[in-house]
Amino acid sequence: MIYEEVRLFYQSYDKKKCVIGYTCQNREIFAFHVGELTGRQFIAVYAVHAREWITARLALRHIKKSVRCGGGWIIPLLNPDGAFLSQTSQPLWKANARGVDLNCNFDADWGTGRLNTSVRGSENCVGDCPFSEPETSALRDFTLKVRPFVTLSFHTKGEEIYWEFGGKGDRYGAELLKKSTGYEVKKIYGSAGGYKDWCLQKLCIPAYTLECGSDNLNHPITQISKLKKCFNVLKFFVENYGK
Ligand SMILES: [Zn+2]
Repeated sequence: MIYEEVRLFYQSYDKKKCVIGYTCQNREIFAFHVGELTGRQFIAVYAVHAREWITARLALRHIKKSVRCGGGWIIPLLNPDGAFLSQTSQPLWKANARGVDLNCNFDADWGTGRLNTSVRGSENCVGDCPFSEPETSALRDFTLKVRPFVTLSFHTKGEEIYWEFGGKGDRYGAELLKKSTGYEVKKIYGSAGGYKDWCLQKLCIPAYTLECGSDNLNHPITQISKLKKCFNVLKFFVENYGK
């Protein structure tokens, strides 16, 4: 299971690290620090959606690649309960174990997305209120503590880069991400309540979402080689953005 992979890696990691919170099934949400401890810091989050758990393996690759300048925090597996469901009984599951879609649960035009629903299930359920879920409130509190200058969210799939919400965003960073991956820079309409959206709207910092892997692949992607265009993207971005 991917949670065990991340947990074992956490135990062996000899740099700064922490647990940012616990899920309702009492799994830990791990964060790993990479690069310089002082100066501006980024946050990168992976496996927000259950069936996109392969991005947690991408995160471990990103942690192992040392950045030459800059530093920040990598959260490989925001949704370990959901990932367990996807790897066992329900391969296409996206939400957490309580049936709330974590990327609709942030406080950014919450509940206004085109596909949003209050009905719990595999996807699109917004939850009882913004940050009703332990995973999203843990990421909110950690983000407010770190005060990152930029955030990145890794999802699958489609080979696209999103950078804008409600008229806010920095397209330049998206162009850098494109330079490293070859992915298309896109605007997305009709979605709300995502981590990227909250960072842009409420924290007023640039934030990006990468949809990793070809759209021709089926969920869940299980081979890390399918994400190879993203192997270097975090290092490239951190070393070049805002220089
Ligand atoms: Zn996703």
